[in-house]
Amino acid sequence: MIYPIQTGEQNPILHTVCSPVERFDAALENFAEDLITTMTTKNEYGQIGVGIAAPQVGDTRRVMVVTMNAFDSERNLHKRRKVQVMVNPEILHESNLQVTLEEGCLSLPHLYGDVRRAARVHAAWYTPSGTRVEKKLSGWDARIFLHELDHLNGILFTERMSGSPSYEPPTDEK
Ligand code: ZN
Repeated sequence: MIYPIQTGEQNPILHTVCSPVERFDAALENFAEDLITTMTTKNEYGQIGVGIAAPQVGDTRRVMVVTMNAFDSERNLHKRRKVQVMVNPEILHESNLQVTLEEGCLSLPHLYGDVRRAARVHAAWYTPSGTRVEKKLSGWDARIFLHELDHLNGILFTERMSGSPSYEPPTDEK
C-alpha cells in the first residue's frame, strides 16, 4: 500500500523520537515493503524519494529506507540504485571530515537547503528479517543514511541547515 506522507515543519509526528523495533515478523516485512512502495511511487507533487523513514508515514518505529547508489554523476537517479531497508540503525563511527550538500525531504515539499554532515559513516542496522548488517557508507549513501536517521530522532534537515532554504516550485517533468 501507499501511505500518505506526513508533511510540515511543525508536524508533531516528525518531531517524535522513534522506538526500537523488538519484533521481527511478517508484519514488519510487510511494513518495510509498504515504505518502499510509498517512497518509489510518485507523490502528488510528482516527486519520488531516495529515502524515507517510518514517522513520515505516521509510524514511530525505528525503520527507514535508504537508496544506495542513488544518483549518477549528474545527480539524476542512477539506473543501478538499490533500496535498503534498515531497522534499528545506528552510527558506529562517523568521519571528522564533513561535507555540505543540498538536501530536500518528502515531508517538506519544494524546500531545499545546504546541510553539513559527516562525509563517511560506519553504520549498523538490522534487515526486516532480523539479520545484522555493518557497512561503511560514503557519498550520498552516507548522506541519505544520516538524513533518515535524523527522522527517527525527530530532527528535520531544516534544523541543521546553514542559511535559508530555497523554494523550488513544482514542475511537470519531476
Ligand atoms: Zn526527510
